[in-house]
Amino acid sequence: MAGRKVCFVLVDGARADVVRDLLERGDLPNLACHVVEPGGLTVGTSVFPSTTGVAYLPFLYGVYPGTANIPGIRWLDRAGATGDWRAQWRAARSYCGVQAGWLNRDLETGPSIFELVPESVALCTPLTRGLRAGAGRLTAARALLGSLAHYVGTYQVLDDAVGDAWVHAAAEPWRFLFVVFPGPDGLTHLLDPFHPRVLAAYRAIDAALGRFMARAARSGEVPAIFVAADHGGSVMREHSDIALELEALGWRTLRHPVHVWRRKARAATMVSGNASVQIYFEPRSGRATALAEPDLPADVVAHLLALPAVRLAAWRDGTGGVTVATSAARARLRDVNGRVRYEPANGDPLGLGPEALTADDRDLLGRTLSGELPDAPRQLLQLFRSQRAGDLVLAARNGSDFRGPWEIPEHKSGHGSLIAEHMAVPIAASVPLPEAPLRTVDLMPTMLELLGVPVPPGLDGVPFSRLAQGVGVGA
Ligand SMILES: [Zn+2]
Repeated sequence: MAGRKVCFVLVDGARADVVRDLLERGDLPNLACHVVEPGGLTVGTSVFPSTTGVAYLPFLYGVYPGTANIPGIRWLDRAGATGDWRAQWRAARSYCGVQAGWLNRDLETGPSIFELVPESVALCTPLTRGLRAGAGRLTAARALLGSLAHYVGTYQVLDDAVGDAWVHAAAEPWRFLFVVFPGPDGLTHLLDPFHPRVLAAYRAIDAALGRFMARAARSGEVPAIFVAADHGGSVMREHSDIALELEALGWRTLRHPVHVWRRKARAATMVSGNASVQIYFEPRSGRATALAEPDLPADVVAHLLALPAVRLAAWRDGTGGVTVATSAARARLRDVNGRVRYEPANGDPLGLGPEALTADDRDLLGRTLSGELPDAPRQLLQLFRSQRAGDLVLAARNGSDFRGPWEIPEHKSGHGSLIAEHMAVPIAASVPLPEAPLRTVDLMPTMLELLGVPVPPGLDGVPFSRLAQGVGVGA
């Protein structure tokens, strides 16, 4: 292998506008001089659902969640939901608690970057597949300090531990170093995305970057640096619990945390982030396959679409495509050999115009990047590649999420939806960025090229080198 060393820094929940503001104020001097000045900074898009863990898949596997058959941070295993009480608990998958590690074995996709680059070290990652013994550090601390931080808000303690371990690792002979800072996201949930304590977490990461680079420079080769976020975040003013809505309609609903054994359940709600939810109808029917449009309860769908908290809904159309709907509009989406077909049936729910169109995947990203629903066509299509995805998927309007105020501690902010506040993320690199709109999924193949490692087939992302040549459509 003849490539460079690469270090990837994942700032969980970092908003692109906050990074830009802090940079302009001179508050992120190390990001400016070590990354943005030699390379660049842009606003790219994450994946749907825009939530921690699921939205790490692009960085480590180069694929969308739907490609990896992981439709959310929570999902229902339809076949398992008919079993005994233990099987039912297992089937109501939630990577937020004790099942967190199951994400590694539920994944169904190609090798991770850790498998492709055996000399990898990772700090504070929940995705560990392919890491050698001793190479996954602070994973237990993430679980312990992370759950403590969830209740008492001590995220800075965890981030400081990550920062120290990062600086400590600077002189080691790894080739790929993956560093996760959970602090900005954790604090954002408890406070808001612009709170002084959240901004202080960004500055602390920048300070750690400075210490890391100084130590790396003293010990030899300076790595290429990538910095990105897995999702954004926004303030939640309304908690609209979809499970309670369904119960009010007479649909007994299986849900987390304590109703996973709901008797005679006729629906299941699996929330990600908390601003997206996947709904499974008749979860104990033993039916292993998803429902499509003709079989969905139209009255329930119409009721949910009319809720003020719902920005849009999507489901399988029954002919290999996806129907996307708002309360007033409906259209069909279809993947045609990597290009995207959009057919408005009634109104224009994604704001792409009233006429049917077939567009290049990357062109459509460029057209939607600065809009209200960045990359929504591709993101809805990729989610439904997963048979595990719900029969119905809802994305929340800005300011709303889908879990009740009963949640402890209450989430004052959140993410998970298809809206720009959650989907737009900062992407910075110390190498030149291509003149093309970027997704987080493009970073893994780009890093492999720098590392001198062949890019495996089947990835959803496109390396910077090909994007710079104007190659549009994903592999
Ligand atoms: Zn979060």
